[in-house]
Amino acid sequence: MKEHDIASTDTLAVHAGVGSNEHLAVVPPIYQTSTFAFDSVEQGAALFAGERPGYIYSRMGNPTVEGLEKSVTALEGGYAGLACGSGMAATHTTLAVLLQNGDHLVCSDAVYGPTCTLVDTVLSRFGIECTMVDTSDLDAVKLAMRPNTKVVFVETPGNPTLVICDLEAVCRMAHAHGAQVVVDNTFMTPVLQQPFRWGVDVVVHSLTKFLNGHADVVGGMIVVKEESQYPTFRKMLNHLGGVLPPLESFLVHRGIKTLALRMQRHCENAMKVAEFLERHPAVEWVRFPGLKSHPQHEIAQRQMSGPGGMISFGLKAGLEAGRKMMNAVKLCGLAVSLGGVESLIQHPASMTHAGMGPDARKRANITDGLVRVSVGIENADDIIADLDQAMSG
Ligand SMILES: *Cc1c(COP(=O)(O)O)cnc(C)c1O
Repeated sequence: MKEHDIASTDTLAVHAGVGSNEHLAVVPPIYQTSTFAFDSVEQGAALFAGERPGYIYSRMGNPTVEGLEKSVTALEGGYAGLACGSGMAATHTTLAVLLQNGDHLVCSDAVYGPTCTLVDTVLSRFGIECTMVDTSDLDAVKLAMRPNTKVVFVETPGNPTLVICDLEAVCRMAHAHGAQVVVDNTFMTPVLQQPFRWGVDVVVHSLTKFLNGHADVVGGMIVVKEESQYPTFRKMLNHLGGVLPPLESFLVHRGIKTLALRMQRHCENAMKVAEFLERHPAVEWVRFPGLKSHPQHEIAQRQMSGPGGMISFGLKAGLEAGRKMMNAVKLCGLAVSLGGVESLIQHPASMTHAGMGPDARKRANITDGLVRVSVGIENADDIIADLDQAMSG
């Protein structure tokens, strides 16, 4: 079956990148090798010169890793994928390709925390300036653009406020300014959102979350849209060296086979949990793209084929209530990360963002009562019962 003939993500999730192998094993083997032998000096020389296809050394390419790259590429509808050692390695490699000394970057302010740190503490040392803006506000994005703006980096829905950016509109504006648009599609996966359809130039993922789905691998992926982009990206990943090993690639590729099923269940469960939270007396507000109360609900309906599994909500009683709830959950795991089959909960003000201090948290819209839930694929009633007992405790 030719991958480009298949349109549905459900089928692609099962079949893309699996390919054939010598023994017709239904599941292709793990090429747990650092290097590949040449038949002859001449063959080795031809491989290095790029005159014939084949493998040289696993930092440069490995069949198991390539299977995973083909899978995510087919799902995103891109030209090629580059598996990275983490989501951060994918973002770093991408920005290292697209930006250089003297360039300017516009970045969503509701972005994964370490992405912000990468820009602030690493890229700044290489003469790259950044403006953080609310990318759901197109006027703000337009105001932030400068003549030397080369990249607009968008995370949508953003972290942890789940604010949504209109990708088609932001691409139109960025392209008119000669800038490229990079989207972190971790929260949605290609099953729920395909950024290339809206004009985006590069997609990055943390494979660690929904794509792998089983909380047992750290990994990342870059997907480029056009053939012309690919060689520079591959060279940069090879130079920076943040590649994904074969065993991790195998595990993520296995996880992706159930991606469409899992995402469907994450969405259904999260919808039920969000509706429960909206009715709960201890809850001040709920932010979930599937609720009519979400400020960009209409864009979500157009741009995403499901609301995803992430919910943020505010506890009326603030910091202390959040701390109490975290210590009272039984089924939901008290952990950072997200997108696994198991439900996880976290309270930024007392955990991940405690060090920021109350003023900086307020500026980043992280209120003291904000709780983030990654809704898993357990029975929704069990998740609801756990949250309910934890809030009434
Ligand atoms: C986790 C995450 C990342 C970083 O991925 P790692 O695999 O932890 O390096 C980037 N973006 C988003 C939205 C994430 O949730």
